[in-house]
Amino acid sequence: MAKKLQSIRGIHDGLPAEVAKWRNIEDVARKVFACHGVSEVRLPILEPTSLFVRSVGEETDIVSKEMYAFEDQGGDHICLRPEGTAGAVRAYLQAGLTRAGAQRWFYMGPMFRRERPQKGRLRQFQQIGVEWFGVTGPVADVELLSMAQCFLNALGIEETRLEINSLGCIECRPAYHQMLVAYLQTCREQLCATCNERIEKNPMRVLDCKNKACQEQLTDAPEMVGHCCQACDTHFTGLKTGLDALGVSYMVNPRIVRGLDYYNRTAFEFVTDQLGAQGTVLAGGRYDGLVESLGGTATNAIGFAAGMERLEMLLPDLKGHQLDVVVASLGDDSLAYSLKVADALRQQGLAVVHAGGGAAKRQFKIADREKSRFVVVIGEDEVAKDGLMLKDLATGKQDFYVLDDAIQVLSGVGMIE
Ligand code: ATP
Ligand code: MG
Repeated sequence: MAKKLQSIRGIHDGLPAEVAKWRNIEDVARKVFACHGVSEVRLPILEPTSLFVRSVGEETDIVSKEMYAFEDQGGDHICLRPEGTAGAVRAYLQAGLTRAGAQRWFYMGPMFRRERPQKGRLRQFQQIGVEWFGVTGPVADVELLSMAQCFLNALGIEETRLEINSLGCIECRPAYHQMLVAYLQTCREQLCATCNERIEKNPMRVLDCKNKACQEQLTDAPEMVGHCCQACDTHFTGLKTGLDALGVSYMVNPRIVRGLDYYNRTAFEFVTDQLGAQGTVLAGGRYDGLVESLGGTATNAIGFAAGMERLEMLLPDLKGHQLDVVVASLGDDSLAYSLKVADALRQQGLAVVHAGGGAAKRQFKIADREKSRFVVVIGEDEVAKDGLMLKDLATGKQDFYVLDDAIQVLSGVGMIE
């Protein structure tokens, strides 16, 4: 026998039950985002590798070891996008929108990172991302976070907590970096190898180390929130005041640094305790310098991305019927008419399959297995009377209707919107 082909490790198939949940999440996102004036964009999956090196940062895990990057047949260095923000900024610049006023975008789609696969950590995963360009004051941060909270609420996900932090800016971060490096050097021996590499290159990432022994060393580490400049402090206060005004609860977590280099000022995560180490379901922050560093005029921006697979794990399986009607036809002479009936019911927006004729028992079994709500039975009598037998599988009740009446009865009960 031929060897079975398997998908790549950490890359999963979306089968119907799962896709139904994803679509539900997407529909909720579309509704909530539309109420906040956010428009959908669809951006490329393949991008130049240099885009991520320049934006996400060379020292990050994503760029240093997780990208699916290759040279194509023409010698171009391209990669499967590991995240959406860099591509959104590229598209924004390429379309010349820097003078077009604020842009509020969202996107949904696959991202690729060659991580160690675990529950809630895949190599191909889907993000719902939001990017707002040309938004400056803390009001934008407040509205973005309240929109994210609305989205989670609308999904019925209630057990997340919002953690926020300020990462400072180019004015105040250098002095803080120095202080942090000095501190980290005092406990260098107790920190893990990765942290040691990061002390000089990217000291704030050390704060984010998941290693327990490292975390123990960090209890007295200086925190950015305590060393922000006046402007960053004012911004952070504005954010907190706005969240308070809207009744969005949060806690300040000075350890949040985010894994990508481009963030400044506001950083945040919505976290749950229900997914183990993969507890961050939605995360983001401000990236005021990124547009400029990719060649545009200085443009403030803020965004987030939510992991579809993690959201999905927090939601109950969808119950309910897959089908409204299974049409069973008894006897060869009723086949043609029964096919027409099936079509007429579909015209009403009902989800209908034809059981294919043949033995009655087999056809009823199909209705059962497919969890249909109704069975329509058509035999010689029904053909002669231009009607059908309609059986409600929940109640077992069964009645004859002429076709037009049956359509009346079934109209409005279809599951398809
Ligand atoms: P984590 O700390 O969990 O690795 P991250 O900081 O790498 O997350 P981002 O790059 O900001 O996360 O991505 C935003 C969201 O996308 C995450 O909060 C998570 O929900 C989801 N996500 C990130 N990486 C993966 C992955 N490999 N598999 C599934 N979902 C992911
Ligand atoms: Mg990660």
